[in-house]
Amino acid sequence: MAKVFCIANQKGGVGKTTTSVNLAAGLVKAGQRVLLVDLDPQGNATMGSGVDKRQLELSVYDVLLESASIAETRVSSEKCGYDVLGASRDLAGAEVEMVSIERRERRLKQALEAVQGDYDFVLVDCPPSLSMLTLNGLCAANGVIVPMQCEYFALEGLTDLVNTIKQVHANLNKDLKIIGLLRVMFDPRITLQQQVSEQLKSHFGNKVFDTVIPRNVRLAEAPSYGLPGVVFDPSARGSQAYLEFAREMVARDL
Ligand code: ADP
Ligand code: MG
Repeated sequence: MAKVFCIANQKGGVGKTTTSVNLAAGLVKAGQRVLLVDLDPQGNATMGSGVDKRQLELSVYDVLLESASIAETRVSSEKCGYDVLGASRDLAGAEVEMVSIERRERRLKQALEAVQGDYDFVLVDCPPSLSMLTLNGLCAANGVIVPMQCEYFALEGLTDLVNTIKQVHANLNKDLKIIGLLRVMFDPRITLQQQVSEQLKSHFGNKVFDTVIPRNVRLAEAPSYGLPGVVFDPSARGSQAYLEFAREMVARDL
């Protein structure tokens, strides 16, 4: 049975997609079978896995509208070693088109049931909103991984996400929990970042992952080559940190 994790944070540009593709590639290097689901209409996780979103015949949009199965829709990213359920622009319309559908928040969960046996991990890269798309991710997941930068407003932004997760837990998905907060783009020379990092640890204790992802330009360069940093330059500091994070995820009793 695959473990399903959402990478979510309603803020944009906090490292969700970078975490999704690098964790996926890191898990593959740790011997795991992985499916990456791109739930963001921007399709960055798709492109960043070397899959051209403009060439997709089917996408996660078709899966959500039940016009295709995951088995028909997934493509394998040969360079990265994992499968991708890709997103393209039409996903932006899914929100509106799904309004009149019953149990619309459970579409992804239902579709994943048929491929549970094919994977050890399913990672869901969520859009920067608490929308119907994110809700589909949260309904399907065993847990949420929250990438965050150690900045002044970081804790404030967390409140909305934590409340949403509580609501989904209470009403839609009893399995759902926060697996952990992942500190990303970390720069230890910045005192404020160290302070916020300490605050996070005192508030959330062991819900803060041990691994810290540093700010590292190789991670930012990799997407333009259609690769996760972990594949593009495995020896870079940022890639090493994501490999460590993948090992931490495998080792955790989740
Ligand atoms: P999100 O998916 O939350 O919008 P992204 O993963 O796309 O965020 O990251 C936002 C930007 O920050 C991207 O340009 C990405 O390449 C860059 N980035 C992410 N993580 C790092 C890091 N650890 N070091 C340097 N740049 C990073
Ligand atoms: Mg993103």
